[in-house]
Amino acid sequence: MDSPGSATLWHPFADMNAVRSSRVTLARAQDVWVWDTKDRRYFDGTAALWYANAGHGRREIIDAVTRQLRQLDAYQIFGSFANEPALRLADELSARAPVDGGKVFLTSGGGDSIDTAAKLARAYFIAVGEPERTVLLHREHSYHGTHGAGTVLAGIPGNRVGGPFIPDVAQVPYDDAGTLDKAIVHYGRERVAAFFLEPVMGAGGVLPPPDGYVQAAAQACRRHGVLLVVDAVICGFGRLGAWFGIERFGVRPDMVVFAKGVTSGYQPLGGVVISERVAAPFWDEPGRIFKHGPTYSGHPAACAAALATIDVLEREELLERSRELEGPLADRLTSLADHPLVSHARAGTGFIGALQLDGGYAARCADLPGRVFAAVRDRGALIRPMISSVAFSPPLTATEEHLDFLVDAVRGGLDDVHRSL
Ligand code: PLP
Repeated sequence: MDSPGSATLWHPFADMNAVRSSRVTLARAQDVWVWDTKDRRYFDGTAALWYANAGHGRREIIDAVTRQLRQLDAYQIFGSFANEPALRLADELSARAPVDGGKVFLTSGGGDSIDTAAKLARAYFIAVGEPERTVLLHREHSYHGTHGAGTVLAGIPGNRVGGPFIPDVAQVPYDDAGTLDKAIVHYGRERVAAFFLEPVMGAGGVLPPPDGYVQAAAQACRRHGVLLVVDAVICGFGRLGAWFGIERFGVRPDMVVFAKGVTSGYQPLGGVVISERVAAPFWDEPGRIFKHGPTYSGHPAACAAALATIDVLEREELLERSRELEGPLADRLTSLADHPLVSHARAGTGFIGALQLDGGYAARCADLPGRVFAAVRDRGALIRPMISSVAFSPPLTATEEHLDFLVDAVRGGLDDVHRSL
């Protein structure tokens, strides 16, 4: 290959043998559009990797990061160190989170934060004298990143390969709170530490919870003293029309994990909002330390990006806008359900959706989602191929006209693939 790095850069989740002939090298971006190095324009139908919620190229965020880099480029917050953006960001997030008395632990991304929540759940139970509570439960189809804990909390079997990296992890069905309750009893209510829940499951296929599931799962956790850890990495910062997504279900978790949209991707940052009760042993008992922390926790430039992003989301009322757009996106995806390559649409809970591809065609065609992705890309829109579906999560700045453009590109791409089969 001719471009620099093309023989050396290993892409995540990629068939590197195939990437050599299908690489999309992006050069620039503005609002809902990105351009490749040949100046071809694409609609960003996925907000990059579910994160560019405020849209690309926002001067306010870029300027905030630049200002911060000029002032205090980087300094760690281990021990007694702090910086103004980290302190302010913790307050802003705690004030918005549906978590009682939330304390905020900052990391570099979603996987870091899942590791933090898993380790803290076990550390909390050691601290309160229940050290046998070590079991972590997760749902089938779940995706919690690819760090140590995320790799075992993976409800997508392929993502567990090479593990397990930590013991005492078990899976429950994704849609049945009764089975969660039974699983807690089965493993021993005195043994289960935490249950991890994505409000709408993202990478597993954009699976909204059945009616009443989230509330019933939260009740099961409460009944058995199990910590509820909500993974809002995709669902937060407007994707479900609220700050952390879980507000929609009227549930107050023990911990909420966030990343992605918190900075709209302008800087890598994630974290966990932790309830006062779970934090208490570490905040109130002298000498009890949570021995954990990534180097870039509280990185001032990343925190500046998050503060500016929160400001944009609020000033432009993008959470409200997300709620307004979820119906129009759902209508358009549903209008594609009559296509022979489509089995059904999943949408309507948040500005996020998926088209489940037809099982018969998928059986006949290797990597049908990848083929649909490529055909839609050739028509000027980027969507996300998943295991047996394709996903949509545009920036919250998109308009209905943009959604029309997207749906036309998708229908055209589906037709192209259908004709070729
Ligand atoms: N949790 C969820 C729900 C995710 O979708 C992701 C990433 O897509 C993660 C955790 C991991 O985040 P990161 O890739 O920043 O480590």
